[in-house]
Amino acid sequence: VLAGGMTAGGCIGLWHARLYGESRSWRQKLQRALDNNRLTVHYQPIIRLSDSTLCGAEALVRLVDFDGTLIPPDQFIPAAEASGVVEQITRRVVKRAFSDMGPRLSADRDFYLSINVSSDDILNRDFLGFLDNETKARGVSPGQVALELTERSTASPERLTRAMEEFSRNGYQFLIDDFGTGYSSLSYIARMPISGIKIDRMFTQALDQPSVGAVIVSKVCELAAALKVTLICEGVETKAQATILANIYPDICAQGFLIGRPMPVERFSRTFPVASRF
Ligand code: C2E
Ligand code: CA
Ligand code: CA
Ligand code: CA
Repeated sequence: VLAGGMTAGGCIGLWHARLYGESRSWRQKLQRALDNNRLTVHYQPIIRLSDSTLCGAEALVRLVDFDGTLIPPDQFIPAAEASGVVEQITRRVVKRAFSDMGPRLSADRDFYLSINVSSDDILNRDFLGFLDNETKARGVSPGQVALELTERSTASPERLTRAMEEFSRNGYQFLIDDFGTGYSSLSYIARMPISGIKIDRMFTQALDQPSVGAVIVSKVCELAAALKVTLICEGVETKAQATILANIYPDICAQGFLIGRPMPVERFSRTFPVASRF
């Protein structure tokens, strides 16, 4: 029994060392990237399918490696969240995105900018003050800022809801990201101050087998209609998927490679000038 216990303890110790070591090295790597300004932000268009008008853009962070290659966020955001660097990254993304998209937001009051936040950002009281300062400094209206929060958050839903309400009172919008992949209960979603739901790519792909996918998506549409929130479908890659979606729910918005990949702001402005249609 003793020996077994020691072995188990040893294993856990090793795991700890590994996890800690990994997040520490990522922390250093990310801190260096922050210090050297090696984060950049790309923008992916979001359109309304019924009339093909542009309704917003999602800001997506990338890390610029020393040789200029872009490291996608899936490779460093989880480590950034685990090591506590994510809040610095979010602030950097906000500053950059407001500076890139500020003119666009002023020129087109129906256009919104979506920013991915982690629950730590929302639970940190300073973040609201930071956002208020940045929106004022850039002349951005909080109502044109959508904060995307994934369902996978481990924070207590009560605490999160209370914090979200403060942001909401100051005018910021919330979108539930990757809807359908987390464990959140619908009762919480119904109580949270959200203005929209983003259906995960997984369900868009399921549309390729219409009998299965269309049923799931139309149920989520019913939910969105009942909650009076907007619905954005992620990962739309084909015309066939867009057509099915437009038929299921006329007000649906779509984001995906069919409409446009994430791109630098210059290309975004060229491809989607104000009042353009897809
Ligand atoms: P997400 O929020 O679900 O963002 C959408 C991801 O799906 C993006 O990947 C985008 O490039 C990709 N995507 C969009 N359309 C399509 C499509 O039609 N097909 C396919 N296969 N993929 C598509 P990206 O930019 O690599 O971002 C990955 C994740 O990293 C994001 O997922 C988000 O969770 C996280 N992330 C990105 N930027 C930030 C950030 O600034 N802060 C935080 N906390 N997380 C971020
Ligand atoms: Ca997102
Ligand atoms: Ca998403
Ligand atoms: Ca996703």
